[in-house]
Amino acid sequence: MNGSITQQVRELISYHRRNWELVRTNYAALDRVQSRKLMVNGYEVELQFNPERIRSSAAKIDKASLAARPCFLCEANRPGNQQWIDFGDEYQIIVNPYPIFPKHLTIPIRAHQEQCIRGRYADMLALAEALDEFIVFYNGPKCGASAPDHMHFQAGSKGFLPLEVNWLQAAKEEVKVKGQAVLYALRDFLQPAFVIVSEKREDAVALFDHLYELMDCKMGEYEPMMNVLSWKEDGKWITCIYPRKNLHPSCYYAEGEANILISPATVEMAGVFVTPLEKDFRKVTADDLRQILRETCLPEKEMDLLISKSKLYSL
Ligand SMILES: [Zn+2]
Repeated sequence: MNGSITQQVRELISYHRRNWELVRTNYAALDRVQSRKLMVNGYEVELQFNPERIRSSAAKIDKASLAARPCFLCEANRPGNQQWIDFGDEYQIIVNPYPIFPKHLTIPIRAHQEQCIRGRYADMLALAEALDEFIVFYNGPKCGASAPDHMHFQAGSKGFLPLEVNWLQAAKEEVKVKGQAVLYALRDFLQPAFVIVSEKREDAVALFDHLYELMDCKMGEYEPMMNVLSWKEDGKWITCIYPRKNLHPSCYYAEGEANILISPATVEMAGVFVTPLEKDFRKVTADDLRQILRETCLPEKEMDLLISKSKLYSL
């Protein structure tokens, strides 16, 4: 295939919509998907009733379960009809057959290596620049990735996530400056979050690496828990970083009426809460979502500590 990446991606999606039943069915179902809007802390968010996402929301990611299944991101295990677009030497852009976005891509690396953003944030910005109709995002290995054993980004259509509008309304505290890039903390937002705004890739990378090094890593884990999104608009990269505390909220494990099957990943952090089960789609309230964010994101006190450390330490 020739042309810009954007053009190639458009062709890839329409090719699979014509030639791959699974993609045709699931993208057609998405056109009719039920959703409803809720206000949380004064910000609009959305619930999406999406039964096909049960695979991801209920995915078992313990070591034994991962070892027992063929990795669906390894080229050898992908369906034979699945095409891809090469991005650089390492990445392959494929269509996600279980979409949340009107256009939803998965971007694995060729090798079967664990999910880890360290050293790859610059790649994420390069993808955000090339995929100019998309927001590129990263689920940490314990923050929503259903293949934490295989490094991958995802990308979804711009104009879909409430975050794109919501972050502009939030109060911003300037935390660190590097060249033309600024690291902000969002205040009185849906949840504690950082934003990096930069015209220059290297400056954004310096700020991201700085924050990454300051974030705590849980015992036995190799990466601080986080969800990250990047997109480019008006010549600037915008990156939103959500430090996480837990993978699942307590309602995920609750029995009976109290149970809600929402497994927060980057998409939920950015304001679209996917409910694979209809009972949850009907009953979930703004209070439930507030509680889910409180239990899975970094507590305010720890956020304040992180901000203080960032101000204290030089780059
Ligand atoms: Zn793999």
